[in-house]
Amino acid sequence: MPEGNRMAGFGPSVFAEVSARASQVGAINLAQGFPDFDGPDFVREAARRAIAEGHGQYARTHGLPALNEAIAARCHARGMACDPHAEVTVTSGATEALAAAVLGLCEHGDEVVVIEPAYDSYLGSLRMAGARPLPVTLRPARGAAGGWALDLDALHAAMARKPRALLLNTPHNPTGAVLDRTTLAAVAEACVRHDVLCISDEVYEELVYEGEHISIATMPGMAERTVTVSSLGKTFSLTGWKIGWAVAPSPLTRALRAVHQFLTFSTATPLQHAAVTALQAAPDYYDGLRSAFRARRDLLASGLASLGFEVEPPAGTYFICAGIRDFGMDDRAMVDHLLTHAGVAVIPPSAFHLDPALGHDYVRVAFCKRPETLDAALARLRDWRARRPA
Ligand code: PMP
Ligand code: GLN
Repeated sequence: MPEGNRMAGFGPSVFAEVSARASQVGAINLAQGFPDFDGPDFVREAARRAIAEGHGQYARTHGLPALNEAIAARCHARGMACDPHAEVTVTSGATEALAAAVLGLCEHGDEVVVIEPAYDSYLGSLRMAGARPLPVTLRPARGAAGGWALDLDALHAAMARKPRALLLNTPHNPTGAVLDRTTLAAVAEACVRHDVLCISDEVYEELVYEGEHISIATMPGMAERTVTVSSLGKTFSLTGWKIGWAVAPSPLTRALRAVHQFLTFSTATPLQHAAVTALQAAPDYYDGLRSAFRARRDLLASGLASLGFEVEPPAGTYFICAGIRDFGMDDRAMVDHLLTHAGVAVIPPSAFHLDPALGHDYVRVAFCKRPETLDAALARLRDWRARRPA
């Protein structure tokens, strides 16, 4: 039997690989981005209620009406007017929304601009569609918001090729960069000028500590060409629920729904009921979330800095990219070394890069963990540092 080769070269994801190794060796997992605590009681209680009430059958394909309405209300509050039933699609996590958008909107051979380092599912989805990534690099830039800046010359050169779409991610995984208004205006202007669609991944929209999150769909000329993607996972510390959504004008929505109906058809009904409750959370829920994560960011950032990592606290997300130049190893070697000798798991950022020369001088460390987990990991790292010859 010949093997299918469409996805040749895509093995288990770096997250699955490092998490499996972490549990084999008993390492503390600061690698894969999932909280080691559960989501808020009021949301879990809503899910229990929905199950008890018997909401056990398929939901409407593009989402439970009340959830589409809650998502549209949220968009509206951010200056993105949308029709809940014609322009909002509930998906199985942001991952499915991104895949449905790429598969529904990009043809074989189309070029798609990707900001690298790039979240791994983007390249997987592009490969499934037969589309080709055109990388534009986000580079360390001391002094810029969060310490990273988009290479605008490279962006303009890529956009001049008139790609089909641009895949944007802000707040950005893995760097923690939050793209500022000037950068987003340049991206938006290039999309409009060259008639390029934008697929905007905003799953970390609520996790911003410095600057502000701006949805690119709110910028001039962008509403009609943008698919805005988000999910419940990061905002409600419920990554395992896989409730996500895509918001886009109806012609784009029709194209992505045509894919969604065959990828998953619909998404877990009782969890959609609970998602409605989640999205009705009062503003102090979000303030509490941000202040808890900001404190963990600061704890991890100062702990890593005191051990010789180069740290610029991230403006958003729950990841720190910590420079490892002082340790004389590249990122993969450092990940192996820390797993074996410190008992702490982190992610090698070269896995997020298309250019094999990039991403070797830092590691990604997640702080979406209980403070006691971060303290325990820092204690292990201090012990490792004390044992390691200078
Ligand atoms: N985009 C980015 C940038 C992510 O970090 C993640 C990881 N959760 C996703 C998308 C996937 O989100 P979900 O779990 O909702 O599918
Ligand atoms: N988004 C998570 C991260 O970046 C991982 C999600 C996954 O494992 N696919 O760590």
